[in-house]
Amino acid sequence: MRESHRLRIAIQKSGRLAEKTIALLVKCGLDFELRRDRLLHECKEFPVDLMLVRDDDIPAYVADGVCDLGIVGDNVIRERQVQKTNAIETVMPLGFGTCRLALAVPVAMECRSAADLAGKRIATSYPNCLRQYLKQVGVDAKIVELSGAVEIAPSLQIADAICDLVSSGATLRENGLRPVEVLFESQAVLIRSARALPPAMALDYARLLQRMNGVLQAAQAKYIMMNAPREALERIQEIIPGMEQPSVIPLGTDGSHIAIHAVARENVFWETIEKLKAVGASAILVLPIEKVIA
Ligand code: ATP
Ligand code: ZN
Repeated sequence: MRESHRLRIAIQKSGRLAEKTIALLVKCGLDFELRRDRLLHECKEFPVDLMLVRDDDIPAYVADGVCDLGIVGDNVIRERQVQKTNAIETVMPLGFGTCRLALAVPVAMECRSAADLAGKRIATSYPNCLRQYLKQVGVDAKIVELSGAVEIAPSLQIADAICDLVSSGATLRENGLRPVEVLFESQAVLIRSARALPPAMALDYARLLQRMNGVLQAAQAKYIMMNAPREALERIQEIIPGMEQPSVIPLGTDGSHIAIHAVARENVFWETIEKLKAVGASAILVLPIEKVIA
């Protein structure tokens, strides 16, 4: 058991999730100084310590109670949870680190679906996910387990196909591969230990969670302002995605024009702005929102 009454969060030390994880925690108001030579980093104004580790170790640290929370790819959790463990719970997706676990084959290989891989060798660092998937689709293939550089396995002729994480697909193309099936989509998630926290820590956890939710909701939301003829109000409300009750302010004295201020719960794209202009809106301003607290 740990003596400390500070929440401990396991995060990736360096790699694809590290920068965005830190950025999220900073937006939640956590203030810390990162030093490469240290494992634990104390936050100044909030009773939280960050533990910087390899991403693969994060589920185990949280499961064993070494850390209370963790930020890690859902793919890592899935690979671990096919082995059935109830020691960790996924709290929420965090909207970054998006990728998918996919089956890919050399461009020239004739293969339209997983069924065409029967009897073939598939290289992967996700043997549990792949085994479960092959069983589900009833395909008998040989799994070649590799810890990294899976994409070069076909050119080394140690496998016929691969099962690996893909985001843009550029790495596949560079290695003369093309995707054939997606096993699942993944992104970074917040995980917590299934054990109950002592009351004081549970309060700190609730505060942190509220801040994280506020930051995540704000990331999608926009504040939008515009002027428009009064009769366009209804159409404008239909155009703006996820718009809540807007503030409507009369402009001038004849009441024919209004200013509209509103929160859009989704991103506002150029197409939306063009539609707004087409129904008579002008002086359109779209502003980022930093925090949303209901
Ligand atoms: P570590 O040194 O911490 O073990 P790693 O090399 O195993 O790092 P990274 O390559 O940094 O891991 O990837 C971390 C996570 O980023 C992945 O588990 C996955 O959730 C996510 N990710 C997003 N896009 C990709 C991608 N194209 N390839 C691999 N992982 C990706
Ligand atoms: Zn790793």
